[in-house]
Amino acid sequence: MGLPGLRAGVAASDPRRPADPRLVDRFGRVATDLRVSLTDKCNLRCGYCMPAEGLDWMPSERLLTDDEVLRLVRIGVEHLGITEVRYTGGEPLLRKGLESIVERTSTLRTVDGNAVETSLTTNGIGLSRRAQALVDAGLHRVNVSLDTLDPARFEQITRRARHTDVLAGLAAAAAAGMSPVKVNAVLLRGVNDDEAPTLLRWALVHGYALRIIEQMPLDAQGAWQRSTMVTAADVLAALSEHFTLIPEDAGRRGAAPAESFRVAPTSDTPAGTVGIIASVTRSFCGACDRTRLTADGQLRDCLFARSETDLRALMRAGTSDAGIADVWREAMWRKRAGHGIDDVGFVQPDRPMSAIGG
Ligand code: SAM
Repeated sequence: MGLPGLRAGVAASDPRRPADPRLVDRFGRVATDLRVSLTDKCNLRCGYCMPAEGLDWMPSERLLTDDEVLRLVRIGVEHLGITEVRYTGGEPLLRKGLESIVERTSTLRTVDGNAVETSLTTNGIGLSRRAQALVDAGLHRVNVSLDTLDPARFEQITRRARHTDVLAGLAAAAAAGMSPVKVNAVLLRGVNDDEAPTLLRWALVHGYALRIIEQMPLDAQGAWQRSTMVTAADVLAALSEHFTLIPEDAGRRGAAPAESFRVAPTSDTPAGTVGIIASVTRSFCGACDRTRLTADGQLRDCLFARSETDLRALMRAGTSDAGIADVWREAMWRKRAGHGIDDVGFVQPDRPMSAIGG
C-alpha cells in the first residue's frame, strides 16, 4: 500500500523491494520519523558520549548547509512519507540559524497535507533565551537531557558547571508553551543511580515528562560495560518503592521507544507519567520507525549501523530529488532486524553518539 500522492512505481535495485514510495524494510517496518543531527559539536562533555577533550569536529565544508538540510528533509517529507522531524546533535542549539531551519520545516506539508511534527533534543543550555523564538518558528516539542538534580553531580557527569542553565531552559520551554516538555535522564552506576525517585518527584511537581534511558554502547572511549549499566528493571524497582506505576496500554506504545507508566498522585506529587527506555535490555527494534541523517549528510538506518549512505555527495553531484529518494529507500530496505548489542560479534559503531545524533 502506498501513500496517496506519493510517487509509486519506484525502481527497485533489490528485486525483492516492493514498489512502495515509503521507507519500507525487509521486516515490514516503515520509517516515518526522521532524526537530523545539525552539528557534532557540544558544549557539554558527558562521559558516556564524548571524551573530556572533545572530538575532532567535522570540517565545515563537510557539514550540510541549511539549504542542504532542508532539501533532504523536504525529500523525506514529500517523497518518502516522513511525518516527524527531530533536530538533534551534538547540541542543536549551537547551530546558527536553528530557528530558521525550524521555520522552514514548519512550512512543509506531508502528502496528507499535514504539518510536520517538529521537535528538538537538547541539553537546554541557552534554551531560556530561545524557547519562545523556537515556538514562534513552529517547534512543537522539546526533550531536554538532564541526568541529575545535584549541581556537583551534573558537573561530574558533564564536566561543565551548567546545571542552572539547564533548569532555566526547561522552565522557559514550558513557559513558551512547548508540550509535553520531556526530560531525558541516563543513570550511571555509582554516580546518579540513586536518583530515579528524586528525578521523578521533581518532574511531576514541575509538569515535565521524565524518561529514563538505559546507557548504550555509544561512548567515544568504548568504555560501556553491560555488567555495570543501570537497567530498566533496576529503575522500575527503585521507582516502585515510592510510587504506584500503572503501565499504559501496551497497544498504545506503537513505535515509541519508552515503556510508559501512569504515576498515581501522592501526598506531595500530582499524577503524571514516566517513560523507561530499555534500549539495551528490552530493545524495541521490531517497532522502529526511524531514519537518521548525520550533520555531514550521511544516512544511517540505525544508531548502531555499521555503514552509511552519502547523501551529501549525491546532492553535491547534482542528483535529482527523485534519485536521492530512491537511494534513501534502497538503504532503508537493507536495515537490519535489530541493533545487535546482544550478538556475540557486536561491534560498536565507529562514530560516537554525539557524531551520529541522539
Ligand atoms: N545535546 C543534545 C542533548 O543533550 O540532548 C542532543 C544530543 S544527545 C547525544 C541526545 C541524547 O542522547 C541525550 O539525552 C543523551 O543523554 C543521550 N545519550 C548520549 N550518549 C548516550 C549513551 N551512550 N547511552 C544512552 N543515551 C545517550
